[in-house]
Amino acid sequence: MLLSEVGYARPATLEQALGVLADYPGARALAGGQTLLNVMKARAAAPDVLVDLAGIPELKGIELGSDGTLELGAMVTSTELIASAEARARPILGEVCAQIADVQVRNRGTIGGNVCSSDPTNHLPPLFVALGADFTVAGPNGERTVPAKDFFLGVYMTAAGPGELLTKITVPPGRSDGFAAVAIGADGTCIVNAAASVNGGVRVALGCVGATPVLVEAPDSDSDSIRGAVRDSAIDPPSDVHASADYRRHLAEVVAARAVEQAGGRT
Ligand SMILES: Cc1cc2nc3c(=O)[nH]c(=O)nc-3n(C[C@H](O)[C@H](O)[C@H](O)COP(=O)(O)OP(=O)(O)OC[C@H]3O[C@@H](n4cnc5c(N)ncnc54)[C@H](O)[C@@H]3O)c2cc1C
Repeated sequence: MLLSEVGYARPATLEQALGVLADYPGARALAGGQTLLNVMKARAAAPDVLVDLAGIPELKGIELGSDGTLELGAMVTSTELIASAEARARPILGEVCAQIADVQVRNRGTIGGNVCSSDPTNHLPPLFVALGADFTVAGPNGERTVPAKDFFLGVYMTAAGPGELLTKITVPPGRSDGFAAVAIGADGTCIVNAAASVNGGVRVALGCVGATPVLVEAPDSDSDSIRGAVRDSAIDPPSDVHASADYRRHLAEVVAARAVEQAGGRT
């Protein structure tokens, strides 16, 4: 289906982008367009103006600090993250991006677009929650930092509100991470996924079991403790054609234990 008529702006700075968003309340940020253009074609969204973020240098780049902290620009694509030498400081980032869909989606889709679309089946929301990342959100009143666990508010809803932009994601140092998923066929959408980080405590974030990632903290990293912690988290997953709620509950225990096992093998 063809797009409806829509205005287009390609600001050169973050300040200009925020200015266009302030001037046009019906404007929306355009990152890789992999989700937004599809929902516009389906007439599920009808922004007045698309604010293309592709020409804004402040939103690009991957920087590795001397302490191992990574700063990822919101407009970094999955492919750039996979190829980045700096991002190998936290190998799970590239490993998970390599599991997203196909080459075209990874070439165009950005990490900012991935988390801002807050699709419960996406790979990156639970990953950043498990890693304890911080999201920087800029708006008319300046900048604020939102922990990943507080960023996701619902399906397609995040803490980056109207007139605001996610500018970067800050990932703390660490290497003991894991990710496991059961997907609909090879390279397919996840039915359930889990990201784990065992750098100090044991943090597991479950995806596809609710509107937003569910963070589970376990007392220990053995399989029984992880599975028990997932059971105690009282998740209430949806049923659909791919899996019943009960099967998703079962899968959540399985993928959580696998993700923690992978993370533990990297200590
Ligand atoms: C066929 C297909 C299969 C896919 N499969 C997977 C998968 O298996 N796993 C997975 O994780 N992902 C998957 N995706 C999603 C993909 O990886 C992208 O992350 C996603 O489409 C959005 O990224 P984008 O850069 O294209 O954002 P866009 O489509 O441009 O934007 C998405 C939304 O985020 C908002 N937005 C974007 N950037 C910002 C910002 N900086 N600040 C504020 N708001 C912003 C936009 O306004 C829009 O509402 C798939 C996509 C497609 C098309």
